[in-house]
Amino acid sequence: MAIREIIILPDRQLRLVSKPVEKITSEVRTLADDMLETMYAAPGIGLAAIQVAQPLRLITMDLARPDENGETKPLPRVFINPEILSHSEETSVYEEGCLSIPEYYEQVERPAKVRVRFTDIDGKVHEEDAAGLYATCIQHEIDHLNGVLFIDYLSKLKRDRVFKKFEKAAKRAAE
Ligand code: ZN
Repeated sequence: MAIREIIILPDRQLRLVSKPVEKITSEVRTLADDMLETMYAAPGIGLAAIQVAQPLRLITMDLARPDENGETKPLPRVFINPEILSHSEETSVYEEGCLSIPEYYEQVERPAKVRVRFTDIDGKVHEEDAAGLYATCIQHEIDHLNGVLFIDYLSKLKRDRVFKKFEKAAKRAAE
């Protein structure tokens, strides 16, 4: 396994629409393993393949919470070609962040519940009802596969401000 570089705003690759995974090859397994390692190292709770510059419909996630002893057992999950089948009318608001927009957090309103279909790393197809943080996270990550970022849900003023901040930082880093 290896830690890959996470691309950040304003990298234009973040706007690509990712392609479906046709077959779960050893490359796809390695990518999923690397993404999990990269996600844990960041640290983050979700990562889309495009964030490591691979335009494939592949997501990793770990929403494990500490148990009563304060210990958190890893719960790594891989979602291949995930899709939202339906969503609730009811919405909820979470403060979201993104490994590709580091140290920026803002409240985003999304459907509170979604039904999601995906293939796991062994090729098995699942359908699940997601609520709470799971619902927010899977919607955020599937957005990445469509070139959508959570800042797209903010006002133009806020979005422009964060975009300019990262553009300036990228220019400074390139100098
Ligand atoms: Zn993100």
